[in-house]
Amino acid sequence: MSKIDDVMKDLVIANRILAREDVVDAYGHVSIRHPDKPNHFFLARSLAPELVEFEDIVEFGMDGQPVRDEKRALYLERCIHAAIYEARPDIHSVVHAHAEDILPFGIAQATPLRPVIHSGSFIGANVPVWDIADKFGDTNLLVTNMDQGRDLAKCMANNNVALMRGHGFASAGRSLIEVVRMSVYLPRNARALLHAKQLGGEIKYLRQGEIDARNRGYSPYSTETWRAWEFWATKAGCAHMLTKPDHGHEHKKS
Ligand SMILES: [Zn+2]
Repeated sequence: MSKIDDVMKDLVIANRILAREDVVDAYGHVSIRHPDKPNHFFLARSLAPELVEFEDIVEFGMDGQPVRDEKRALYLERCIHAAIYEARPDIHSVVHAHAEDILPFGIAQATPLRPVIHSGSFIGANVPVWDIADKFGDTNLLVTNMDQGRDLAKCMANNNVALMRGHGFASAGRSLIEVVRMSVYLPRNARALLHAKQLGGEIKYLRQGEIDARNRGYSPYSTETWRAWEFWATKAGCAHMLTKPDHGHEHKKS
């Protein structure tokens, strides 16, 4: 199999993991930047992530349009991915989803969503909230063109995650494993924070030094990270598709 085939296969696995972990349902999507053509990225055609197969992966350009003739229906919100890749050369993978547990933090302004648990540290110290109405008024809340995508990417700035008011979130990672991990732990971190708020009293967020210490120890293809990827892929029924990267691969991807 070629390197591109491996990348597309990993993207299928990522789709299945996010579905199995309840980050996405019928809606929501994950993409990966083309390893050789930084102005292209891969994303499935319009299909529930649980059902995505190798043949469903489509190659897109930075305008959010497929680079080849494509008759199949495509995700309406693919501009989220295009705009984040355009704004952030450091980013190699993007997730957009509507996970329920994060939604209150885009709606209520009293409590910011920030890391409160160690595994939530990867969402970053600051999680901005993007409100589509600020610039675009009354819409159906979906990001359907590049103007809206760019406005979201601008709000995300150099952060890992942006919440989308009344809608969901977008997350951006240096690798596919990183963005999947971040997107799995984002709703869990939100859930822990919601429960803590119910108990009352002062909320203790992770300290900046703790977040920094977690990030220093992170490598997308370390044994610890691979352990989670292998576990999630097995749980999602696609362990047979796993390609364990060699050492050199880690450097290429990071
Ligand atoms: Zn959406």
